[in-house]
Amino acid sequence: MDMTDSLPAALDGVADPISGKGLIASGRAAPPRFEDGTVSVVVDVTGLSGDARSKLETAVKQALIAVPGVETVRVAMTAEKRGRKIIAIGSGKGGVGKSTLSANLAVALKRMGRKVGLVDADIYGPSQARLLSTEGMRPTAQGQKMDPVMSPHGVPMLSMAQLVKPGQAIAWRGPMAANALGQLIDAEWGDVDLLILDLPPGTGDVQLTMVQKYKPAGAIIVSTPQDLALIDATRAIDFFNQAHVPVIGMVENMAGYACPHCGEVSDPFGQGGAQAAAMSMNLPFLGRVPLDIGIRTASDAGLPPATQDGDTIFAPLAAKIADWLNPTRPASF
Ligand code: ADP
Repeated sequence: MDMTDSLPAALDGVADPISGKGLIASGRAAPPRFEDGTVSVVVDVTGLSGDARSKLETAVKQALIAVPGVETVRVAMTAEKRGRKIIAIGSGKGGVGKSTLSANLAVALKRMGRKVGLVDADIYGPSQARLLSTEGMRPTAQGQKMDPVMSPHGVPMLSMAQLVKPGQAIAWRGPMAANALGQLIDAEWGDVDLLILDLPPGTGDVQLTMVQKYKPAGAIIVSTPQDLALIDATRAIDFFNQAHVPVIGMVENMAGYACPHCGEVSDPFGQGGAQAAAMSMNLPFLGRVPLDIGIRTASDAGLPPATQDGDTIFAPLAAKIADWLNPTRPASF
């Protein structure tokens, strides 16, 4: 066998980690070039994690160096730069359920088949590791880039909490926080094409720098029905308008109280405040999440309700976001 047969055969003997076919058969690599003992090959690593990429590079080198007559192997890896959209979840103040909503939306989108990841940028109270059951998992680094950790619910995630020691008070200013966020957003996300971004609460300089630098495709605002929270939500809307981030709509959380015994829903904070506020600001109202002790206990246990079959709360919200992302959506969404 001469080089024109043995090199492609050796390369095709390495399996594509996704399809399992040979690298040439799967279209990941063209037949290699060979000159003066050196073989050069270009491998398309689009959609592979950093770990899978380095394993593949090693396998290609081993397969080609074993071919008699080969002295040096050069492997170039290319990846299609994919447009990855960011959806920011914001709130005018803390404690309104922004993190709970972010985690559940990510899980619900994943269950719809979306390639979704989650970034916890809430430097004041990063809680996504608990919500997504990744506590204690440390991201590994591939060269300059981090590899996200995988939650048992199938959502890869990275959190600001993974960049600092637990319990360390964070008094970051805007540019510092934005740079740290960059490490999370520019990580090795593989084929993830949608990132849910759990922003810090509030509308200050930290949030503004983050949003300006990473330009989310859209934002969702979470509010409780209380008047004070709604005033803060109005600020959040102004904030996204100023930053030229389209607001997808508003979600009312802790709306009505679901009695854990009889299931009856009462309205300790009044009902419909967020919906009325959204209407008066000409914003879509995406839906209402009841104040339900089950949401808190399940989320705290790392099992967000959206992981359960028969979730009727978060799945419809996720469907609305998916509709909004659809490039052919009607202008009147
Ligand atoms: P934020 O991210 O806005 O600070 P969290 O998502 O951390 O808010 O929620 C604050 C607390 O309220 C958490 O203990 C959470 O479990 C609880 N919580 C959030 N939404 C609900 C809800 N709809 N029903 C019951 N508890 C909720």
